[in-house]
Amino acid sequence: MPLPYPALKPCPCQSGRSFASCCQPALNAERVAQTPEALMRSRYVAYALQDEAYLRRTWAAETCPDDLEATDGTRYQGLRIHRAEGDTVEFSAKLKLPDGRRGTLRERSTFEQRGGEWVYVDGVVLNSQAGVTDTPADKD
Ligand SMILES: [Zn+2]
Repeated sequence: MPLPYPALKPCPCQSGRSFASCCQPALNAERVAQTPEALMRSRYVAYALQDEAYLRRTWAAETCPDDLEATDGTRYQGLRIHRAEGDTVEFSAKLKLPDGRRGTLRERSTFEQRGGEWVYVDGVVLNSQAGVTDTPADKD
């Protein structure tokens, strides 16, 4: 079960809109994401709220990992969209790993429209082999 999140609080994807008027309808399957960027944002929120069902639903069948695990303790602390062009979106996500390390994952994701809905196909990590660069620890 995904973590609960108040509808009227600012959306975790940092769009500046409320959850209810941003990513919540997509996560609740009330409305499909209209653009790759909107899908990217909703998938970031799904990671933050540990909504594995949504991640699977929006992941191309051939690239979706069998052992998808959204509850490994990683915390998602911020999202920035750098570029959204055509079927790709480049973003940075601020993470806090289960071992306490903080880092930023910068990725260029590729999406595809299938049957009228966008799905995530794959991504290229741009900032490090491990996917996370250490950033100076700041206080909680
Ligand atoms: Zn959002």
